[in-house]
Amino acid sequence: MVKKEVHIIGAGCAGLSLARYLSIADQSEKYKINFYGQKSKAYENPNYWSFWGDKVNLHVEQYIKKKWYKWQIINKESLVTHTTKNFPYCTINSRDWLSFCGFEKLDINPDIPEPGPLVFDSRNPRVFAGGLTQEFIGQTIEAIKPIFNPEIVTLMDFRCDQQQGTHFIYILPFSSTCALVESTRISQFLCPSQYYKDAIKTYLNKRLNCIEYKIIAEEYGKIPMGQLAKHDSRYLGIGSNGNCLRKSSGYAFNSIQQQTQQLATQISMDKMVTKQNQIFLAFSRLETILDTIFLMALRNQPQKAPEYFIKISKRLTGDEFASFMSGKTSLNILLKIIFSLPKMYFLKAWFQTIKAKLYHGNKFN
Ligand SMILES: Cc1cc2nc3c(=O)[nH]c(=O)nc-3n(C[C@H](O)[C@H](O)[C@H](O)COP(=O)(O)OP(=O)(O)OC[C@H]3O[C@@H](n4cnc5c(N)ncnc54)[C@H](O)[C@@H]3O)c2cc1C
Repeated sequence: MVKKEVHIIGAGCAGLSLARYLSIADQSEKYKINFYGQKSKAYENPNYWSFWGDKVNLHVEQYIKKKWYKWQIINKESLVTHTTKNFPYCTINSRDWLSFCGFEKLDINPDIPEPGPLVFDSRNPRVFAGGLTQEFIGQTIEAIKPIFNPEIVTLMDFRCDQQQGTHFIYILPFSSTCALVESTRISQFLCPSQYYKDAIKTYLNKRLNCIEYKIIAEEYGKIPMGQLAKHDSRYLGIGSNGNCLRKSSGYAFNSIQQQTQQLATQISMDKMVTKQNQIFLAFSRLETILDTIFLMALRNQPQKAPEYFIKISKRLTGDEFASFMSGKTSLNILLKIIFSLPKMYFLKAWFQTIKAKLYHGNKFN
């Protein structure tokens, strides 16, 4: 039997997930998968992909390193703790996932094929000029004494330097002595890596009274926030190049899984996929507009971020917060968010987003 060919550009989370799901769905082995471009660095230099896992498939489930049912958001004045039964916060190691998806056996052609119906492009999207970037360094640390609460994730702790844009510390506690501790900034400009390393050290010393610790792994990330354009508009985009990256948070893993699993099923059933709108879209238009306004407000007043995040988290329950972060925002959640935020700032930001679009169009790097 002559096999039909599927061409995937980019061998990262989306490209490899699509290949794996297709090999599972294509039981009669009708399809041959070809890879092009470059391999992801997330295998050699692994990082953690975290997400709210209400409905993860069994394949993802078996690689989850840990699940948490509580998380907190902290600023100078307040601490909000969310609890959930239905949406645990989960984390997966990128090397484990890419390995399951066949990274080690991957044969990749550096030449990019011409666009076509079964050619999927996962090269990273183009970034809007002057847009915000989420930049971070995360260190997995091993402390001598127990310093972490292994039951609670710290999603954002704003009790750190706020002079260089919106900045928070994120902690994924694997045990009472071991955690991923990340310093994250959201800004239009980047900072030297030493800034993040110093911020982690200061936080561990000052907030957790931890002086002696070992750094056992380190990850670096630079994720664009806000408006993105496809790497090349002629191709069918998948992953962050197919609108899976949540504009306001940089989360993408779970939507990539939903998109690529669905796409694999479509292909295995010989459904024609020739247009971008035939590929699963992770976020609604309303969520995208809300995210754009929110990011404009952050850009205008980065020092207000701790207040905005605390206000939103106080208004929402754990399940509502997780739904919102996972792209399942109901009208009720949307209204709660709108009413939790200062109206004047957000109305101004809304007008600015409309004006920016009218006068400047979309200028991409
Ligand atoms: C350090 C880090 C931590 C993250 N943590 C989380 C998290 O906790 N939760 C979450 O949901 N998301 C997270 N993300 C965001 C997102 O989930 C990941 O970036 C994810 O890898 C996106 O998958 P992708 O397939 O779209 O892109 P990638 O995995 O980046 O794959 C793109 C592929 O295209 C190739 N490529 C790119 N440009 C070219 C080119 N010009 N020519 C040829 N090949 C090219 C690359 O080599 C790569 O193989 C994180 C990102 C980073 C960087």
